[in-house]
Amino acid sequence: MAKFKRILLKLSGESLMGEQGYGIDVKRLNEYAAQIKEVAEMGVQIGIVIGGGNIFRGLTGAGKGFDRVKGDQMGMMATVINSLALSSALGAAGVANKVLTAIRMEPVGEFYTKWKAIEAMENGQVVIMAAGTGSPYFTTDTGSSLRGIEIEADVMLKGTRVDGIYTADPEKDPTATKFDDITYDEVISRGLKVMDITATAMCKQNNLPIYVFNMDVVGNLRKVMEGEEIGTFVHP
Ligand code: UDP
Repeated sequence: MAKFKRILLKLSGESLMGEQGYGIDVKRLNEYAAQIKEVAEMGVQIGIVIGGGNIFRGLTGAGKGFDRVKGDQMGMMATVINSLALSSALGAAGVANKVLTAIRMEPVGEFYTKWKAIEAMENGQVVIMAAGTGSPYFTTDTGSSLRGIEIEADVMLKGTRVDGIYTADPEKDPTATKFDDITYDEVISRGLKVMDITATAMCKQNNLPIYVFNMDVVGNLRKVMEGEEIGTFVHP
């Protein structure tokens, strides 16, 4: 039995780069698709939000002279590219799926509504919700909090390249220690960089628990669904 019935899975665009440092690494993409397939076969309803940091981030663009709103729109388009790539990989793996977009752009994907997402998940399709919130000045972390709350997910699974939340960045500070669980307030008050404050606050206000884990290790998504404690649980 899976631990959760309906999940919102947040995938990082940056992780999609894999070893190559830019764009989409097909090996990583196919590994993600295989992990999602395993969990879909457990009967779990899956909604996915994927980032765009492997292609473009509005804030970085603004630092180089891009208009911030246009830069954020470019970032949202980047999430659409990644969503289509994941949809294609899932399709090739035999996983029925559908792309919904927060910005109207048929025939690339249908325009998102909560009810379309839930109907598709109840019909056994994995739903990929592209273009973040559709608005600038937000991130896909906030987009996934929002979608997770809207689709009434039991949990938001935040797939990262580290195995949970640490007292400091473990890639920079070797003395950093990992939390098995932590409250939303502590994440915010300690300034932990796991998600932005807006996303964390939205989850807190709407009681959506978050589980942070390393999605780049094949098999980890299934382990989380089987209740193995391999990451960090964020709760009230
Ligand atoms: N973005 C946005 N509104 C949203 C979601 C994303 O403007 O609701 C833009 C923003 O510029 C962001 C970029 O899309 O930097 C890519 O998303 P993000 O940085 O969250 O990707 P990740 O870090 O997960 O790869």
